[in-house]
Amino acid sequence: MSTGKLKIDLNALVDNWRVLDALTEASVETAAVVKANGYGCGAERVAKALLHAGARTFFVATANEGAQVRQAVGPNPKINLFSGHMAGATDMIHDMQLTPMLNSVAQLTRHFEALPGAPFGIQLDTGMSRLGMEAAEWHAVRDIALERSPTLVMSHLACADEPNHSANDAQLQNFRAMTEGVQAPLSLSATGGIFLSSEYHFDLVRPGIGLYGGAPFDAASPVVHLSLPVIQTRDLDVGETVGYGCTWQAEVPSRIATLSSGYADGLPRALSNNATLWFGDIPCPLVGRVSMDLITVDVTHLTEHPDQLDILCRHQGVDDLALSAGTIGYEILTSLGSRHARRYGEVLS
Ligand SMILES: *Cc1c(COP(=O)(O)O)cnc(C)c1O
Repeated sequence: MSTGKLKIDLNALVDNWRVLDALTEASVETAAVVKANGYGCGAERVAKALLHAGARTFFVATANEGAQVRQAVGPNPKINLFSGHMAGATDMIHDMQLTPMLNSVAQLTRHFEALPGAPFGIQLDTGMSRLGMEAAEWHAVRDIALERSPTLVMSHLACADEPNHSANDAQLQNFRAMTEGVQAPLSLSATGGIFLSSEYHFDLVRPGIGLYGGAPFDAASPVVHLSLPVIQTRDLDVGETVGYGCTWQAEVPSRIATLSSGYADGLPRALSNNATLWFGDIPCPLVGRVSMDLITVDVTHLTEHPDQLDILCRHQGVDDLALSAGTIGYEILTSLGSRHARRYGEVLS
């Protein structure tokens, strides 16, 4: 038996990709980021659906992820690796025709020596201090890199979800300065950057979270729906407590439903005594602590016994649930466990 029922609406995913694609000029390519198993939604299904919709370039974090996506999309689409050419990844990069976004002189050297002539991109650090070559490093190898025709020169914004943050413009200026005279296609924006302004779009945008219905794409169609089966309900007398640590106590006679799913299924423990589940349109508070495999919900006010309650639904999206847990939609999505039964909506062409 599975814990929850996870429905992934591939039509909504494709709609989101199309809406984001329409926000950029026709000359700007809209790629798709499918790392971390397609943000928890299933990289293969997601990549196939987006390929069908017209996506031609995919991004993943690691070579293993790239290999999985290659098998799903066939030989033609580009699959780019954010982690670049890591030690030990050469065979996979070659066999699966992956394109590493080289992050350092060491990676550049490794790539040119191990796979001369094989495609590569360049990742620049314009102010995030995370991945990519800094200005001085780039300056030293720029000519060598450019004469071998990189497929993409990219960087990543640290604060794109805060449109007024001064780091956005600073990174834009740095990116422009570092790519002056570069003929290769350029890319700076993920989901957040698409909404900043067309100045941030360059030749290719790389949305991830927006495809899956997350902020800062506020008008996104929800992609993920999660309902959790009720295993048992019990009636509590005044004074009885619920769950580990006895953190919730019945102040009136109460009916408590026990649902199959817990923190091992991606429901953060921070939701303890602090989340809402839904029986159709009726909210029901999560009470007591989130356990590994179970949560408990106050259903005293329902007039019927629920078979299941929704935790991701039209009343509560990934960002709403994230807010209750003190995290972000990205973490909710990528934590959705492997124990849920997954069902995919059909893609209409
Ligand atoms: C994850 C990632 C993206 C996608 O970001 P979203 O905010 O999910 O759209 C794009 N570029 C890089 C370098 C990333 O690491």
